[in-house]
Amino acid sequence: MDFELSPEQREIQALTREFADREIQPHAATWDREHTFPRDVFTKLAELGLMGACVPEEYGGAGTDFLSYILMLEELSRADAGVGVTVAVHTSAVTLPLLTFGTDEQRSRFVPPLARGEHLGAFALTEAEAGSDAGSLRTRAEPDGDGWRISGAKQWITNGRYAGTFLLFARTDATTAGARGVSAFVLDADDVQVTRDEEKLGLHSSITNDIVVENARVGRDRLLHEEGKGFRVAMQTLDGGRIGIAAQALGIAQAAYEVALAYARERHTFGKPIAEHQAIQQKLADMSMEIDAARLLVHRAAWLKDRGDPVTEAGAKAKLFASEMARRQTAEAIQILGGYGYTKEFPVERYYRDAKITEIYEGTSEIQRIVIARAILGLQAAGAARA
Ligand SMILES: Cc1cc2nc3c(=O)[nH]c(=O)nc-3n(C[C@H](O)[C@H](O)[C@H](O)COP(=O)(O)OP(=O)(O)OC[C@H]3O[C@@H](n4cnc5c(N)ncnc54)[C@H](O)[C@@H]3O)c2cc1C
Repeated sequence: MDFELSPEQREIQALTREFADREIQPHAATWDREHTFPRDVFTKLAELGLMGACVPEEYGGAGTDFLSYILMLEELSRADAGVGVTVAVHTSAVTLPLLTFGTDEQRSRFVPPLARGEHLGAFALTEAEAGSDAGSLRTRAEPDGDGWRISGAKQWITNGRYAGTFLLFARTDATTAGARGVSAFVLDADDVQVTRDEEKLGLHSSITNDIVVENARVGRDRLLHEEGKGFRVAMQTLDGGRIGIAAQALGIAQAAYEVALAYARERHTFGKPIAEHQAIQQKLADMSMEIDAARLLVHRAAWLKDRGDPVTEAGAKAKLFASEMARRQTAEAIQILGGYGYTKEFPVERYYRDAKITEIYEGTSEIQRIVIARAILGLQAAGAARA
């Protein structure tokens, strides 16, 4: 067993941290307050090759391994969780499934603009009546000549307003209910209308949209993978995507820990720094331990993915533990800062708001427990629950 990062992994980690400390972290509070989507940050990340992590160089990417990508997401999210999720959705929910499931022609056509950061990617699965139970989606793709006409409405689509490429799921077989009969399509922004910007508890530098597709004509060249096998694309995408969300949670918790630790050394009560009160020491010890444990789970899942091993169980465990840990420990960070923690003078209240979503998207904690239970009990998926 080797817990050392490779020189290349350390280099990507240091490069991202340096960029995040300079270009992201100083603006994060303002973006949060003003709900700014920092589009130019993604152009700059693309210049560093970081919008095409894990993408081979022949498709315009940086050709890194998955663990390097995960290290990068942690660093971005430590500075701003909204930037973290924008890159996570763009990469693991759009670019990588196009690489995995696309034909040579689809890879050459759709991946380079994403990997070079010219297009942002959006993953459009969720609908008003189809979240955890994604297989009940209603967006329809009606046969039309040798292609389809797609119509439907999707909800809470990260990057929707700024995306150039959508990976969108629609029902090609109206006679089949549930996961079977769903297909995956690659759509351009021209096919998609953005109808609403969602208002959220946090993650204000990320954009979350309702979108509508009306009678969009697509040819066979827009079908990703086989007809009727789109649910497999979605589930396999989420298996990997969850490791990214776990890294996002880890980055948020790490940021909260660093602020809490520094504050505990500075703030005095009863004649000494609060770090010298045992109650505060115990909180800091738990924070440090839980962050370590989450990081080990996240890195193990990424390492398995790099080996080409199944990651369904390991990814679900990493996401479940890291996201619940981030919610708990960002709350503890507020507690360590006392009244200041509740104000916008310090960033911990933002971390707390941002951490909460990691327990919900790319599969809620309840769904992660179902996935883990199925794996340990050797059960098949009974329904279409977002596994
Ligand atoms: C900010 C944000 C960004 C998002 N980005 C995207 C995106 O880019 N693309 C996309 O497609 N979607 C996106 N989503 C949607 C997200 O993935 C869903 O919200 C999530 O999967 C949960 O679905 P739901 O909200 O419909 O909850 P529901 O499925 O209605 O669940 C409600 C509650 O019931 C529980 N529950 C449901 N089924 C079961 C069960 N079988 N057993 C036990 N408990 C259960 C859930 O865990 C939850 O606690 C985003 C959501 C948000 C808020």
